[in-house]
Amino acid sequence: MTEIQRETLEVDVLFVGAGPACLAGAIRMGRILKGQVPGVASPGDLSIMVIEKGAEAGSHSISGAILDPKALAELIPDFRDRGAPLESPVGDDDLYYLTRRRALRSPITPPPLRNHGCFIVSLGKLTRWMGEQLEGLGVDLIPGFPGSELLYEDDRVVGVRTGDKGLDREGKPKSNFEPGVDIRAKVTVLGEGARGSLTKQLVARHHLDAGCNPQVYTTGVKEVWEVPEGRLRPGSVVHTLGFPLDAKTFGGGFLYGMADNHISAGFVTDLGYEDPHTDPHSVFQQFKTHPLVARFLEGGRVVSYGAKAIPEGGYWSIPQLYVDGCLIAGDSGSLLNAQRLKGIHTAMKSGMIAADVVAGCLAAGDSSAARLKEYQDRIKSSWMGRELWNVRNFHQAFDGGLWSGLVHSALQMATGGRGVRNRYPTVASHERMRRLRPGEKPPGRAFDGKLTFDKLTDVYFSGTKHEENQPCHLVVADVDICHTRCTEEYGNPCQHFCPASVYEMAETDEGLRLRINASNCVHCKTCDIKDPYGIINWVTPEGGGGPAYVSL
Ligand code: SF4
Repeated sequence: MTEIQRETLEVDVLFVGAGPACLAGAIRMGRILKGQVPGVASPGDLSIMVIEKGAEAGSHSISGAILDPKALAELIPDFRDRGAPLESPVGDDDLYYLTRRRALRSPITPPPLRNHGCFIVSLGKLTRWMGEQLEGLGVDLIPGFPGSELLYEDDRVVGVRTGDKGLDREGKPKSNFEPGVDIRAKVTVLGEGARGSLTKQLVARHHLDAGCNPQVYTTGVKEVWEVPEGRLRPGSVVHTLGFPLDAKTFGGGFLYGMADNHISAGFVTDLGYEDPHTDPHSVFQQFKTHPLVARFLEGGRVVSYGAKAIPEGGYWSIPQLYVDGCLIAGDSGSLLNAQRLKGIHTAMKSGMIAADVVAGCLAAGDSSAARLKEYQDRIKSSWMGRELWNVRNFHQAFDGGLWSGLVHSALQMATGGRGVRNRYPTVASHERMRRLRPGEKPPGRAFDGKLTFDKLTDVYFSGTKHEENQPCHLVVADVDICHTRCTEEYGNPCQHFCPASVYEMAETDEGLRLRINASNCVHCKTCDIKDPYGIINWVTPEGGGGPAYVSL
């Protein structure tokens, strides 16, 4: 095969992923270059680029979301005057424990779930707005360009190759073929969100997680509803524990009152669950049938749907965040505060610290790992480092179930995050799945089409689209395992954990075989994480494909 001729672009700093981490980094970098950041000298005239796999900034952004504005206020002090899309300041915070029929309101809201001073936001709207703030700062934001592989010179990262466009299912060029571009950069910052595909390659190649706790994840499934007037005041926050999860599985639900009679409703299920039939989408649908929840939503309509894995390992799962020529920021670097259910402010702060450190490195003409190490040191000594240290054992505390988790969690709060030991161990999410029991079948699932929806209906609400005739972006290393060992040992759990009906076991002339409906994929990364054999690799599809999130 003739070698593909690729265009090469040269930039000084390349940010991969237009989420809160990289957009904050790019805004800060642009402002440093303009001499607008006191205390950080401009390294001169640099070229800055942000690439994003989605069709636009914000189209793949999804979060609860309650924003702690601390980092945003540091980044853009006049964010309110500039029209930052804040749905509402948080008013009241309520916490309930749900049984099947009853809702027991906690007499006190634990301090981590008190959100006074925070704002309910749509992360999609916020990141679109952050993208607009780049205007005039000399930063190029290029959507529809996924980073498909890292470029190396020896062990130094020298940029990113973007994905080819116009390949057919077999990987052969079609008439509209456009080869990906090699974007060479002095420093590359990876802010791809949870389980970033380039970050995964980088961490594996350099063993950046050596000595860390394994990363653990939850999957959040969410719908935004438009409801009749007066259901949930803008700014009202409801969190729940209990139903429909059993006491062994960590997770909980949320309802956030948004502007214009919209409610953000969602459920987070720990991917450390044991039962192979657990289905985070179905768990969320059951959550909505609880009388407490249904009364807020009944008579309304869904306007958007989405799902995303959330990295909850926290402090002890933070890998080395630097190598020669490259940094890792935001959720990709395990920089989320799971106890507060918040990662937007820490992602932004990491992007800002990355910008400050990179400016210094480029001024000195040195972007080696030894110099970039300053990034991790400054994260640790910043307010975000202290915040993450104080909750360093939070998620691990729930490895033994909800009730012991609450006891450990209270103890940790009283001891500055320590609890009964300085570092609680944990187990990777996919290793906790138990095998099928004899005769065990998946539970029946029914959806009424009014309050509860099947996965395909919800995928429709996510606006997801991919070019159909392209190589499959869910790469299963050994498909024979699917219809042999996996059917017998786990009952093909990919059919259950994927919240978008991508995987199905279909009858064929050769028997039961795996069928992958890749065009439904909402890019949540759950399959890459929870597959019990670790053989599913999520790679970037053709640029611009994926969800088109609205208000999420
Ligand atoms: Fe999520 Fe994987 Fe399903 Fe895509 S295929 S929606 S990444 S679980």
